[in-house]
This record gives sequence, C-alpha cells and structure tokens, in this order.
Amino acid sequence: MSEKRLHKETLAVQAGYTPGNGEPRICPIVQSTTFKYDDAQSVADLFDLKTPGFFYTRLANPTVDALEKKIAALEGGVACVCTSSGQAANANAILNVARAGDHVVACSSLYGGTVSLFTNTLKKCGIEFTYLLPSATEEELQAAIRPNTKAVFAETLCNPSVVVLDIEKFARVAHANGIPLIVDNTFPTPMLCQPFQWGADIITHSTTKYLDGHASSVGGAIVEKGDFDWGNGKFPEFIQPDESYHGLVYTRNFPQCPYSAKMRAQWIRDLGNPQMAFNAFLTMLGMETLHLRMERHSQNALALARFLESHPKVAWVNYPGLESSPDHPLAQKYLPHGCSGVMCFGVKGGKEAGERLMDNLKLAAIVVHVADVRTCVLHPASMTHRQLSEAELKAAGVSPDLIRLSVGIENIQDLCDDFDQALQKA
Ligand SMILES: *Cc1c(COP(=O)(O)O)cnc(C)c1O
Repeated sequence: MSEKRLHKETLAVQAGYTPGNGEPRICPIVQSTTFKYDDAQSVADLFDLKTPGFFYTRLANPTVDALEKKIAALEGGVACVCTSSGQAANANAILNVARAGDHVVACSSLYGGTVSLFTNTLKKCGIEFTYLLPSATEEELQAAIRPNTKAVFAETLCNPSVVVLDIEKFARVAHANGIPLIVDNTFPTPMLCQPFQWGADIITHSTTKYLDGHASSVGGAIVEKGDFDWGNGKFPEFIQPDESYHGLVYTRNFPQCPYSAKMRAQWIRDLGNPQMAFNAFLTMLGMETLHLRMERHSQNALALARFLESHPKVAWVNYPGLESSPDHPLAQKYLPHGCSGVMCFGVKGGKEAGERLMDNLKLAAIVVHVADVRTCVLHPASMTHRQLSEAELKAAGVSPDLIRLSVGIENIQDLCDDFDQALQKA
C-alpha cells in the first residue's frame, strides 16, 4: 500500500498493518517477550541491528510496530517509536539530542507533567531549560539560544491553557540555529494539525489522549520527519561511532531515520520504556475512528463553548475556535478543521463557584483525564498542576478559577442541559 498518497481518513483505518493471504484481518496482539530463530547467526545479526526483525519486546514488537507505522503515516514522518507513556516520549525526545551540560529553549505554555519533567528531573540530569512565553518575538527567542542549546520544545495546542503555537515562528528560530523543533502534538492529533508541514522536526504524543480516545491505555509516541541535518556539527553522537553498538554510526547506518534508530538503540534499550503490545492494540483500535471522533469533538466543543460564553453565570471562556479567543487567528491558520474538544472557562464567583458547578454536573465527570469520548472536567490548580508554584501556574496559563473541560462525543443538547442545570446551582 503506497500510504503517502492516501488521505488521512484512509490511513487512520488501514495504515500500519496489511495482512497477507489467510492472516488475521486485524493486527493481532503479539503477547510474547521473545521470538524464536533457527540459528545463532540470525540472532547475532538482529542484535547488531544488521537485519530488521524482532528478538526482544523491550526493543521492538510486531503489534507496537504496526501502531508506530500507523502514527508515522498519519503525521507524514519517516519513522515512529512508541513509548510506555507521553511522559516517556517527551523525556526520550529530549535525551536523544541533549546531554548533561546542554540547554533547551521551551515555550512556557506546557502540560504540568512536562514542566515537572523539565524543571526537576531533567535538570537533575544536567540539562537546563529556559522558558519563553508563546507570544515571544523571534528576537526574544533568538536571545535565549546559547551555543549549547540543542532543541526548541513546545506544545502545538497547550494542555490546559489551549494556547495555539505559532509553529512557523518557533521553527524559524530553531532552524536558524541548526537545532530541531520538537512539538508535542497530543491535543490536535494529526487529524487537526500536521506540524511537519509547518516546520517541526520531531513530534511527540501522549497516545493516552485522543489517539486511544477511550481512556483505556497509557502510551506515548515520538515521530521523526526525516530531513533534519544531524551532521551540522551540533550533534556528534549522531555521526560518531556508538561504542555501545560496535561502532554503529546512526547517520550512516540509518540515513533515513537516524533519530529514531538512535532512540531505539540507546533510550528504549537502556531505559526500557517501550509501549506494550496490548496497549498498542487498543490504541490502534481507537485510531481507526480518529477522524470521526476529532470532527465530533471539535463540533461539540465549539457549540458548548458558544453556549457557555452566552451563559449569565459564566465569567469567561477560552476556546481557540471562538472569535473572542486571542488565539483565534492562529487557530484559523494551524487548526482550520477544528480545535479539538478541550477548552477552559471560569464561573462567576471564582474557585468556589467552579467547585460547586463541578460537584453538580451529572454527565460530565470529574476525572484526571482529558481527550476521550466522555465529557469530563478538572480543576488543574488543585489537581494536575498542584505541584507547580504560583509563578509556574501563571506561566503555564493556569488561573486559580480555571476549569478544564474536555468535551466528548455525546449529544450536544444533553451536554448543554447538564451544564445549564449545574450552573444554576453554582
Ligand atoms: C497527558 C499529556 C502528557 C503526558 O502523557 P502521559 O501519557 O500521561 O504520560 C504529555 N503532554 C501532553 C500535552 C499531555 O496532555
């Protein structure tokens, strides 16, 4: 199947797995740690990465491989490596280009777990981060770049502040300095935005969210576009022999996908954070309806955002699909087919009124999750972002009264009715 020329809807359903004659119609769950070979040389060649194939599920597994191919096809990348979680995807994505003594420029509008990963854990590993507002000018971004800066990192649609990234602006600064732009594309999914078209070099995902879409499986993914010049002098580990792999040179042995080859050979192998076959199977099932779900999530969210915006008990609504959103022009450029199901809003009466609203919702549940088929709400300041300082909350765009709403694919009238009755009690 020549996947590149097919449309996204077809790829969502069919890419990644093509059964041969008499084989299972849907990709089987290969629940096996290892794979049998008839002679020692075959296994030695696999270990040396001389021949492609499977030998141990920590490095690669046929079910996970099918999911990786599906995600790569949808994003328009050359390769994808799936991880145990979105956190693992972002950690590995940074570690693959930066080491102790290096520096990364990040957009400050970030998921709370990513802020914690960068400012605590990766800092302990010796990697330093500088945060800039999404509205930073190219000059301000440029001024933050140092000789040891190895990447620019941002979220295409931020969780939870729903700030839309000006991908081209961040890409221009990254490329002027010979470093990759890494974007977390979890919220738009490739159905609503394909960041490679706008200059991103690496895409990460928490597949836990819309790609699975049913709140069944935690997972992550890292996708490589395939045209970044790793030989520009800034990334010696890509062009020098890797002694831990008998002198393998990633740009020479894997010219199509050196970033992904290095990711698997070093970080997936040594940290041991791959995705597991059963989760990959469930995520693939979810992805077969991704195009239908993202369309409905976006329609429902826009309708509910309009309803809330006109409701007398609601103080403010931020959804980039609304004309009133400061990010509406960026959304028209980067998210022309919809802005996903996530928005945030505040109730008149602040944090306490917001809590009363959340307690009285019947269809929309309070869960520490987002981006699945069921409508749910969350109060980031006291839940997902509670480890952040006040300054970090402000930088992440999280006010104390902010309620994050993830709109599902239920009937829109039922959702409006539920919010209406709960707002009356707030
Ligand atoms: C949820 C999320 C993550 C973390 O993913 P997990 O699968 O929970 O580890 C990272 N980035 C974004 C934008 C997210 O929404």
